[in-house]
Amino acid sequence: MEYPAEGGVTMGKAKGVHDVVILGSGPAGLTAAIYTARADLAPVLVEGADAGGQLMITTEVENYPGFEEVIMGPELMDVMKKQAARFGTKFIGGDATRVDLRKRPFTIETSAGTLEARALIIATGAQAKWLGLPNEQRLRGHGVSACATCDGFFFRNKVVYVVGGGDSAMEEATFLTKFASKVYVVHRRRELRASKIMQQRALSNPKLEIVWNSVVTDVLGDEQVTGLRLKDVKANEERDVQADGLFLAVGHKPNTDLFVGQLDLDEVGYVKLVGGKWGQAPVFPQTRVRSARPQGRKTVASPHFPPGTRTSVEGVFAAGDVADHTYRQAVTAAGMGCQAALDAERWLESQE
Ligand code: NAP
Repeated sequence: MEYPAEGGVTMGKAKGVHDVVILGSGPAGLTAAIYTARADLAPVLVEGADAGGQLMITTEVENYPGFEEVIMGPELMDVMKKQAARFGTKFIGGDATRVDLRKRPFTIETSAGTLEARALIIATGAQAKWLGLPNEQRLRGHGVSACATCDGFFFRNKVVYVVGGGDSAMEEATFLTKFASKVYVVHRRRELRASKIMQQRALSNPKLEIVWNSVVTDVLGDEQVTGLRLKDVKANEERDVQADGLFLAVGHKPNTDLFVGQLDLDEVGYVKLVGGKWGQAPVFPQTRVRSARPQGRKTVASPHFPPGTRTSVEGVFAAGDVADHTYRQAVTAAGMGCQAALDAERWLESQE
C-alpha cells in the first residue's frame, strides 16, 4: 500500500508482511517505533484519530526527563514523532478499524488499506472520562485537568476542586494538597467508593474537604477557570463557588474496543500482560524470606514471572496506558514502549 505523506516525512511503498506494526502515537507507540526502527524492523505506525495521544491536550510538561525548561505537550510529541521518522518509521493517519489476531500474520485494517504484521505492538492508550460539560472542554488546559501529577504544580496556593469518590479522586486530592491552599472533593453521593485506607488518608488531611451529594454543573471563566457551579442533588439547589482549578477523577477508559474477544482484557478493559515467555512455565526460584518467628529465615518457592509486555496472544505486545492503570505517566509509557520493542524484536528473532 502507498503511505500518505505526513508531517514532512516522505513515505515510500511497503509491500508484503511487515515485521512490526504499532498502533498508537503517544509516548509508548513512538518510543516503540524509535527502538524497532533502529533495530531495522521497519515499523509501520498507525497514528489513531487522536494522533499524539493525551499529551496533545496537556499544556506545560515539566516532568519529562531531558527538558530542562518547560515543553508543551504537543511540541514534545512532535519532537518524538520526528525522532521516530528519522530512523524510517512509516506513519499512517487515522484509526485502525479492525484487527484479526486469530492467525499470523495478523491483519490490521485502516482507512488507508489493510496491513499484515508478524508482530503487533498495541499502544492505543486510554482516555480520561470527562463530565461532558461544554465549558469543561473549552477550559481544558486552562484550569481544567484530568491529571493532578501532570498539572498540580501549577496550582500553588490556589483553590482547586476534584470530582470523584474513588481511589483516584482520593489520591489526586491528597497529592494536590501539597500545592493548593484548599482542595475540595465533590462527590455525588454520601459514601465514597475509595478503599478505606485512601479515604482515611484523605479525610485526615486538614487542607481537604468533601462536598457531599454534589455535582459540578458548569465551569466558570473566560480564559481561565475562575469558579464552578455546584448542585446539591439532595436539596436540588445550585450555588457558584470561587475556584482556580477543576480536576476530574471519574475514571479512565482504555482504548481496547478493537480487541474485545481477541485479547485477554481485565474487568475494566485494560490489556492483561503476562510475564515469562510463551510456552514456558514460570520460574520458581527458591526465595529466602525472613520469617516473623524467632527461628529466622525459611525458604519458600514463589512463582516469578519476569515483567514484560506480552499479551495473551503470542506475537502481540502492549505498552503504555492501554495496559497500565497505575502509573499513567508519559515517561512510564515511553519506558513500556521501549520494553515492547525489545520484547517484539527478541520474539521475532526466536521465530527465525
Ligand atoms: P472508579 O473507582 O471507577 O471511581 C470513579 C468515581 O467517579 C466514583 O466515585 C464515581 O461515583 C465517580 N463518577 C463517575 N462518573 C461520574 C460522573 N459523571 N459525575 C460524578 N462522579 C462520577 O475510578 P478510579 O478512582 O479512577 O479507580 C479505578 C481503579 O484504579 C480502581 O480499581 C481503583 O482502586 C484503582 N486505583 C488504585 C489506586 C491506588 O491503589 N493507589 C489509585 C487510583 C486508582 P460513584 O462512586 O457514585 O459511582
